[in-house]
Amino acid sequence: MSTNAATETLGRDPNCCRCSLWKSTIHICIWGRGSLRAKILELGEAPGVAEEETGKPFTGKAGQLLNRLNEIVGIEKHIYITNPVKCRPPGNRKPSPKELTACLPYLKKEIELIRPKVIVLLGRVAMKSLGLGGDVNAQTKPFWLEPWPDCWVVPTWHPAYCLRAGRESAKELALVLQRAKKLVNRQSEWR
Ligand code: SF4
Repeated sequence: MSTNAATETLGRDPNCCRCSLWKSTIHICIWGRGSLRAKILELGEAPGVAEEETGKPFTGKAGQLLNRLNEIVGIEKHIYITNPVKCRPPGNRKPSPKELTACLPYLKKEIELIRPKVIVLLGRVAMKSLGLGGDVNAQTKPFWLEPWPDCWVVPTWHPAYCLRAGRESAKELALVLQRAKKLVNRQSEWR
């Protein structure tokens, strides 16, 4: 089954109106992309201009950087990339807590579908979407989070931050992805 077929079957709603973001976007409810057998789920923020045009997450500059880093680390075939908020907020503003809550059932469905071994939280919005606060840096240690007892959670920077902060931060993000890969390998082989 293709990613799109599976996600449509499992509850993506192109007519969703659970929050008001549907009113200002072209593509409503943009789900993730990648392998349905992914061991690593990378969670970002919300669609931007490029994502709204293509209807796919992480297709803009930040997404291209993340793709490159995934390739360098060698996990590009083992990931599923998605956002906690599935419609583009106007002007690329941060999603509100209300919007994160409204969209959370979709993210939970994706996690149930993929059953990743590691969830990489890319930035503070990703953290907030799972009820976590605090700062993010490249040294934050992995932890477990209910209700996914068999899945490591690894917070780190969003690739958009690395585009602003420069090469060293991108290198550190690559190291975090490398750590995520090692965590998967500790639990099981790549399928
Ligand atoms: S952001 Fe999520 S909850 Fe809000 S309209 Fe889009 S798909 Fe529905």
